[in-house]
Amino acid sequence: MTNNKYKILLIEDDANIRSVMTAMLETAGYQVHLADSCGFGKILYTSHQPDVVILDLGLPDMDGMHFLSFVRQDSLTPIIVLSARSDDRDKVLALDAGANDYVTKPFSSAEFLARIRMVLRNYQHRSDSGKLPGGKFRMRDLTIDYDARQIFIGEQEIRLSQTEYNIVALLSEHCGKMMTYSAIIKGVWGYPDEGSTKKLQVNMANIRKKFGVKPGDSWYISNELGVGYRMNGEKEE
Ligand code: CA
Repeated sequence: MTNNKYKILLIEDDANIRSVMTAMLETAGYQVHLADSCGFGKILYTSHQPDVVILDLGLPDMDGMHFLSFVRQDSLTPIIVLSARSDDRDKVLALDAGANDYVTKPFSSAEFLARIRMVLRNYQHRSDSGKLPGGKFRMRDLTIDYDARQIFIGEQEIRLSQTEYNIVALLSEHCGKMMTYSAIIKGVWGYPDEGSTKKLQVNMANIRKKFGVKPGDSWYISNELGVGYRMNGEKEE
């Protein structure tokens, strides 16, 4: 037994899901703490300081959104929201309230474990440096030189407009996190207006084209329609 296992706090009131997920997480080597309500979740969160929280939104005592804002008052601990709600508005609300990612039941365990690794990696990346990276971002054959504002695939430079570059740089700074349209718009343009989402989508289409991505190809950035974009920290199955 190692004592440097990552601790996961799972807040879920459905006993079946709790036991399936516990088995999955423990098999993957995580140490799991369980709570069946928002109130108990807060107690365990404070006493155990988990590395990742998996949070159901529909809880018996309070909405899981309360837990989200409780943690986000003073911590960036990764939170993956788990919910039966498939409504895009709920996803957007949870992401804008500080959730790192969102998984809708039912989900595949391979996908779910990949999401956990991704938020862990992104969090460590940020806490190692204390702030966003200066210098260079590297992932597989993608390199972003933040100082020179240049992007390369292998040796080849991808020439982007200022706005296109800002979008890719912003996503890379939050690599692994699903960013909502409004969070990206705020980060790139500073203000939302009526045409913002359309403007973002047009820019994203141009970026894809310049990266040489064909429709249906998986690449560095995934899009969840109606929600937002994510730069993938690792290849998703
Ligand atoms: Ca529930």
